[in-house]
Amino acid sequence: MEGVHSISETYVRAIRVAGGMPILLPPTFDGPTRDGYIALVDGLLLSGGGDVAPAHFGEDPVPGLRDVDPLRDDFELRLCRAALEADKPVLAICRGAQVLNVASGGGMVQDIATSVPGALQHTQRAPGWHASHAVDLDPTSRLASIAGSDRIFVNSFHHQSASDVVEPFRAVAKTSDGVIEAIESTRHRFAMGVQWHPEHVADHDPVAMALFERFVEEAGATRRRLPSGQDRPPLPAAADDPSA
Ligand code: MN
Repeated sequence: MEGVHSISETYVRAIRVAGGMPILLPPTFDGPTRDGYIALVDGLLLSGGGDVAPAHFGEDPVPGLRDVDPLRDDFELRLCRAALEADKPVLAICRGAQVLNVASGGGMVQDIATSVPGALQHTQRAPGWHASHAVDLDPTSRLASIAGSDRIFVNSFHHQSASDVVEPFRAVAKTSDGVIEAIESTRHRFAMGVQWHPEHVADHDPVAMALFERFVEEAGATRRRLPSGQDRPPLPAAADDPSA
């Protein structure tokens, strides 16, 4: 919606239920503000949304490409790279997983239904709490260890997915049609992208809860690692005294 910043309450509630303090970051092209955001937070959750402009992964748009928001792309890609650089935990959901993959140099399937032969229905026409398809997890992955299983059932509201995944990231979850459903870093403290929407079921689904809990726990550990105040943003320069 033009002129409005908004996010689904489900993300906010999931972070809160997991013991974290949610802070929303309005997108901006302003670099110093972005730096301030990264200094302020202990972890970064990249939320769901529209498509990433294919220029960011070296492609022209296909007819199946949907809504693109150039400001949000620029903001989130830079913010994500800064979080990875600072090794602050990143939990990336749906569009967020796509941002995380593109930020780390990976490529995208722009439209699954027209690009993947034998594709499943990844934009379900069932309520958000319904787990519509199975996902097979790499048993050696961190995601599988958090899930406590190498096969889980998830909701699905995406029409894009990662194609190439670049080191230190790796694909750790797939559906039976070969679509990549999750990526994680082998090098960062915690950097994980999932194509489904755990926030939608975080109040009752044990795997979704565990994912948010681990993210918040890692973010808390990031805070404890630094001496008090060291990673806080500098105070803004004093404004000119209007009475002078
Ligand atoms: Mn899916």
